[in-house]
Amino acid sequence: MISDRIKKLSPYKTETTQAKIRLSSNELPLYLPEDVRIRIAKEVSKIPINKYPDPNATELKEVLSDHLKVKEENIVLGNGSDELIYYLSVAVGEPNRGVFYPVPTFPMYEISAKVFGRERVEVPLDENMDIDLPSSLSAIKTRSPILAFISYPNNPTGRCFTKSKIESIRQEGLFTVIDEAYFHFSKKTFLEDAIKREDTVVLRTLSKIGMAGLRVGILIAKEEIAHEINKMRLPFNITYPSQVIARLMLTEFYPLIEECINTVIKERDRLIRELSQMEGIEVFPSDANFILFRSSFPAEKLHKELLVRGVLVRNVSYLPRLERCLRVSVGLPEENDAFLDALESSLRSLT
Ligand SMILES: *Cc1c(COP(=O)(O)O)cnc(C)c1O
Repeated sequence: MISDRIKKLSPYKTETTQAKIRLSSNELPLYLPEDVRIRIAKEVSKIPINKYPDPNATELKEVLSDHLKVKEENIVLGNGSDELIYYLSVAVGEPNRGVFYPVPTFPMYEISAKVFGRERVEVPLDENMDIDLPSSLSAIKTRSPILAFISYPNNPTGRCFTKSKIESIRQEGLFTVIDEAYFHFSKKTFLEDAIKREDTVVLRTLSKIGMAGLRVGILIAKEEIAHEINKMRLPFNITYPSQVIARLMLTEFYPLIEECINTVIKERDRLIRELSQMEGIEVFPSDANFILFRSSFPAEKLHKELLVRGVLVRNVSYLPRLERCLRVSVGLPEENDAFLDALESSLRSLT
């Protein structure tokens, strides 16, 4: 009795392999000092867990509206942006209209489209890992999708697509979702469009700024659009502990997060410099907290050699355009040094 749509799905791939140094999930290397963790525990201990949380997460939204400089009415919260991607995949247009996204990109756009039985209009990136505009426009003209997902910057390739290309796609009448999960590392945004226009929304998340465990995703839209999406939101989708901890982290402890983000940005640029000087490595530019690189060896082999040396990265070589490519998340300086050492030694052993 289970739908064929669901039977044909393959579960979301995550890297569960154990390793001393995990640079595979683009998390922020935020290690909280003991006193901060005790303070968090104290706040959590006050939660009446027999009670439902605030269904509107009002206090958390207040803090977020302060950070984002938008009104609370412009915000819809999700259990991670993953949940918001689900909502948008149902809410926008009628089910007979498809979903457009460039590939390779974040896998949730494809999974959501499949779950809800919507046609997938997938167009491979050009050789610069940018949107292939002629092919995209021609696919849009023939298959008339109604919804576009744009990862900005794009995961797993790392760069922000050319803004005017995104605008040209939107110009075709597509409701455009700009997924800015890595905003804090790119500083590029469509936020102004999102609060003004009916055809553009922005997604943000706390996951890449040190709070992946809390599962808080943020949709920013014009009030009317936010109001509609909010109607289909599952009640109580942000748990009590998440509301409490996120609020604390975004206020009192936000300086810790900012410092960590700044370290990661500096480290990203250092890693790119070091990788670009390594023989047999091609490194791609990045606006995010991860770096895509290609070696001359089969990706499976290099991935395994790195793991033997205690370093876990993401093998993305099965994706279109990414033959022999791996993706490494930027960690703390000592983690990145360990990665660079492991990479040099792996390359030597494979030669
Ligand atoms: C990591 C990531 C997300 C985050 O999803 P959450 O459900 O908020 O953890 C969203 N979009 C992209 C492109 C990502 O890489």
